[in-house]
Amino acid sequence: MNAEFDIISRYFRRPAPNAVLGIGDDAALIAVPANNELAISTDALVCGTHFFVDTDPYKLGYKSLAVNLSDMAAMGATPRWVLLALTLPDDLVKHQTSWLTEFSAGFFALADEYQVALIGGDTTAGPLSVCIQIIGEVPAGKALRRRGAQIGDDIWISGHLGDAALVLNHELKKISLAEDEITQCLPALLMPAARVELGQRLIELAHSAIDISDGLLADLGHILTASEKSACIAMDKIPCSAILKKYLSMPLATECLLAGGDDYELCFTASPVNRNKVASLAEELDIHLTRIGEVCSGKGVIVKDGEGKIITLESSGYEHFSARG
Ligand code: ADP
Ligand code: MG
Repeated sequence: MNAEFDIISRYFRRPAPNAVLGIGDDAALIAVPANNELAISTDALVCGTHFFVDTDPYKLGYKSLAVNLSDMAAMGATPRWVLLALTLPDDLVKHQTSWLTEFSAGFFALADEYQVALIGGDTTAGPLSVCIQIIGEVPAGKALRRRGAQIGDDIWISGHLGDAALVLNHELKKISLAEDEITQCLPALLMPAARVELGQRLIELAHSAIDISDGLLADLGHILTASEKSACIAMDKIPCSAILKKYLSMPLATECLLAGGDDYELCFTASPVNRNKVASLAEELDIHLTRIGEVCSGKGVIVKDGEGKIITLESSGYEHFSARG
């Protein structure tokens, strides 16, 4: 792509004060802080799979970084550096330059908020996709991991779940929301908050953690598999918005809550001894933290309704490459 260098210098080249060398050479250079480990992760957003072709580019830029920040949050890491691999259709580069202006504005709005520096990437022509690699730092040996849940641990969820999936199902015409409901749910889908500070603070409190990107059941399932434990959770404790609650008699809404995905909230387990500390942290950070169940011995997740009856679900989370109806 002839325009490659032009695109990089016009939209993405910025000083990276926290790197030894940023954009412009064959590789960036970063100095690893003493007594820290690097947490490194990558997440791709592909047009047609993760976002609609007409998604607001500012929000896409924001979200593509937010989902990567969320992986740092889940590890308790402090995000510091990002790389951005963009695949752009020719038509977009030639005829929609405002797309790149807005995309980079959304991306840098969030990068600036977390003082994360863009230190490199790649720019190629092809079907629209955004792939970000993020690097954070975490005190050596302290990162939050999926494994580590212990029998008797409380299971906690930040924020509330299901709004992103609910409004996505509206866009897919599987449910019909009112205008004001769409307005209230859309930010969860388009501009999710990453719980970075919460993750950092949980290092001293939690035994295990994960961010909920594929749905509560699937992601809690990952904690349990890695920890070789099971869990029992109470359906009526799972935090949801008043809007989602209104639709909960519909199986689709229940699925949004339990298995919808795209939430980017944290699910973590902690000893009941830390209950008060978790509650104080919630207050300090002004984030809802809700206890939804308990880690047990055995395998799998059991969900119970208000009367203690076990709920069964058709789908437990979003799986790429799986055959879904
Ligand atoms: P190379 O050919 O050596 O891989 P490139 O020509 O692809 O290098 O990129 C030149 C420089 O611009 C490199 O430092 C690269 O990391 C950076 N870069 C390329 N695309 C992007 C992008 N979309 N965002 C940020 N930096 C980028
Ligand atoms: Mg390259």
